[in-house]
Amino acid sequence: MLTNAPRGTKDILPEQTINWLWLENKIRELCALYGYDEIRTPTFEHTELFLRGIGEGTDVVDKEMYTFTDRGDRSITLRPENTASVVRAYLQNKLYANVGLVKLFYIGSMFRYDRPQAGRLREFHQFGVEAIGEKNPAVDAEIILLAWEFLRSLGLNDLTLKINTVGCPACRPIFRRKLTEYFTENAEDLCEDCLRRLEKNPLRILDCKVDASKDVLDDAPRIETCLCDDCREHFNSLKKFLTSAGIEYVVDNRLVRGLDYYTKTAFEIQYAPLGAQSAVAGGGRYDGLIKEIGGDDTPAVGFAAGLERILLALELQGMLPAQTKKIDAFVVSGGAAAEVYAFKLLTDLRRQNISAAMDFAKKSMKAQMKSAAKSGAKFALIVGDDEVASSTVTIKNLETAAQENVAFAEVSEKICGEL
Ligand SMILES: [Zn+2]
Ligand SMILES: [Zn+2]
Repeated sequence: MLTNAPRGTKDILPEQTINWLWLENKIRELCALYGYDEIRTPTFEHTELFLRGIGEGTDVVDKEMYTFTDRGDRSITLRPENTASVVRAYLQNKLYANVGLVKLFYIGSMFRYDRPQAGRLREFHQFGVEAIGEKNPAVDAEIILLAWEFLRSLGLNDLTLKINTVGCPACRPIFRRKLTEYFTENAEDLCEDCLRRLEKNPLRILDCKVDASKDVLDDAPRIETCLCDDCREHFNSLKKFLTSAGIEYVVDNRLVRGLDYYTKTAFEIQYAPLGAQSAVAGGGRYDGLIKEIGGDDTPAVGFAAGLERILLALELQGMLPAQTKKIDAFVVSGGAAAEVYAFKLLTDLRRQNISAAMDFAKKSMKAQMKSAAKSGAKFALIVGDDEVASSTVTIKNLETAAQENVAFAEVSEKICGEL
């Protein structure tokens, strides 16, 4: 037990950290290009925020949250996603006071008590962006573009962009009523979960995995027939913006988000080779959320992408960057006096920005030379009694095997010149 991490969690070991850093750098570069600033919110929040911000009746809230009572008797929840927290931070810090559109991104751990499987953990990492304060569909297009270009820039092919509109509080109730009527008539064709959804949230039946291939879903009423003028126009404009950016999309009427504060645009980007877990990014507009959490009526749009799944996709496609972790110099010493001298050399090198290591296990010089070769260092810096006596260092270039004796004070300069 003591030596096992909890189920659904994973250590990110040094050779994997290199991939994570590479991915996070890509994210930060891209967000800078699009003018999104990084925000970091707390890992846990008051449970109430997620009850309101994600919604009771959703799987996340009903089955998957890590909720506990803290020592001050507050109900606390580890964040299962970051949008509610970002909106909370936006309101608490009055980020709306400075500019019209607030553009934020985040990278961080999220927590859901879910069945662990490939690309899905209980502690997992998401990158997401939120653009708060603008209703123009050009912002929806910008967000979708950012997600798309992000995945493309990593080298992922076989991506599919699916878009849909889920209407708004003016037109969705009409659609909802039509769905309820239709599914009530066809209830015998629905799975057990969907029978429950029929009462709470009939829209969610549309993305049921169990019933996906049944006629009952194919023949269900479509939202196009219910949209109000505003929603119809928004969706048409979005399509125009996407086309102007040269991005292909598929309209998928089953792409729904069941909660009332989700409005208009919904989208998902899939990477087919991942199979059942093919969604690598998803998001949409949530014009009703900020009011739900206690702010003024404020339009907003965003997405989130699962980083474990993206790394898995990159691994499948052989697109992870080559591991190139190396040091510049390895200090090899013989004898007690030389060890202190070597330590001073090690410190000097690092102060000159030369990455360096030495052996602390008092191994033989021969064994230390092996360590030097293994470290990938370009230079072995050898110090024995002779070098200490003459205040010099023997520099061996491990690539060419060339060797020379240099005054201690000139070592850094010499190496810098050859790196
Ligand atoms: Zn509408
Ligand atoms: Zn179902």
